[in-house]
Amino acid sequence: MALGTADQPTTVDFGPAAALSCRECGTRYDLGPSFACIECFGPLEIAYEFGPVSREQIAAGPTNIWRYRSLLPVPADVLSTPNMAPGWTRLVRADRLARELGLRSLHVKDDSGNPTHSFKDRVVAIAVQAARNFGFHTLSCSSTGNLAGAVTAAAARAGLDACVFIPADLEEAKIVMASVYGGRLVGIQGTYDEVNRFCSELIGDPMGDKWGFVNVNLRPYYAEGSKTLAYEIAEQLGWRLPDQIVIPVASGSQLTKIDKGFGELIKLGLVEDKPYKIFGAQAAGCSPVSTAYRADRDVIQPVKPDTIAKSLAIGNPADGPYVLDIARRTGGAVEDVTDAEIVDAIRLLASTEGIFAETAGGVTVGVLRKLVAEGRLAPDAETVVLNTGDGLKTLDAVSAQARPSAIIRPSLDAFRDAVSG
Ligand SMILES: *Cc1c(COP(=O)(O)O)cnc(C)c1O
Ligand SMILES: [Zn+2]
Repeated sequence: MALGTADQPTTVDFGPAAALSCRECGTRYDLGPSFACIECFGPLEIAYEFGPVSREQIAAGPTNIWRYRSLLPVPADVLSTPNMAPGWTRLVRADRLARELGLRSLHVKDDSGNPTHSFKDRVVAIAVQAARNFGFHTLSCSSTGNLAGAVTAAAARAGLDACVFIPADLEEAKIVMASVYGGRLVGIQGTYDEVNRFCSELIGDPMGDKWGFVNVNLRPYYAEGSKTLAYEIAEQLGWRLPDQIVIPVASGSQLTKIDKGFGELIKLGLVEDKPYKIFGAQAAGCSPVSTAYRADRDVIQPVKPDTIAKSLAIGNPADGPYVLDIARRTGGAVEDVTDAEIVDAIRLLASTEGIFAETAGGVTVGVLRKLVAEGRLAPDAETVVLNTGDGLKTLDAVSAQARPSAIIRPSLDAFRDAVSG
């Protein structure tokens, strides 16, 4: 085990997880707080030995991600530990938005309904279990905003310390949410990629080498939390995979693991084996993956982000190459939209379906709209689009346009003048 842990835990229980395995060369390692292959520096991911799993057994579980605990790297006693119990968010049938866009069947998977109002509660919940197993007392992360709030909240509930790092110029709501749960919040003068590089240094220093960084040394565990989005979408569609799905891309971890989750459901016989297309969505102001996709390149050129979609503003995405592979293999694509298109899409989703998305949801709905308009998404196929965060977190994106239509004295005459004027 390369990295030191705070205490030697008495028992280490990772449920069905069997080993860490290098995504590039397949070398296997014992389950530990490590994230890179010693042979080739490739990223490590969890390899499983699943027992028998049935739809009935899953359906009998709680209405949160732990209904899938037999498919996750978590201890058998996970239900009895204090945690945020995220997941089982709503899958909304979006007929009015579908009609607006020209689609036959569309669902919005609305992950704003998680405890800290973004999809990050899913990944943090798995990382907390790994931190317990490894005896870490302090949780940390580099964050584009949502992760910091999810980590500090989860640490508060689990009785752990937290010290989280964000770019100092984030949205007000994300700063407040990352601070209110306690722990230490540190703003770094720089981009997310600089924050992330700083955390990699901190992990090698005595100040941070006993900490569980959920998206660095606990990343293989953390990343598995995104599989639960795939499981939920399939179960909520009646144990069926969608034909096509639009997923936001920051580091690319979520998209990669949704594909892994769909693949597991097929292998375990929980859904019928059928093709599905995965589409990645980025903001034009931070589009290293869609740019590589469009140019038909395998190498991702890092960029300096400049977009209102700050939660997706990762200029050097670790899982970018895998996103390209998956989009190409499944017959999907990676596309981007401008900040103006993001704002339009937020308002379109809100005014057709009553769902207020953060800018990341504007990115996915905007890309969906663009792909349908360009004939690159099949209009008759069953489609799912993700909203991964709550619009209340990014009010500034729409606050200039979302105003009262009039401000009047409390009198009928004043109202009559206002509506007729
Ligand atoms: C973190 C995040 C994502 C996805 O991030 P990946 O790094 O690609 O896994 C998507 N939406 C929101 C709102 C996020 O905070
Ligand atoms: Zn390797």
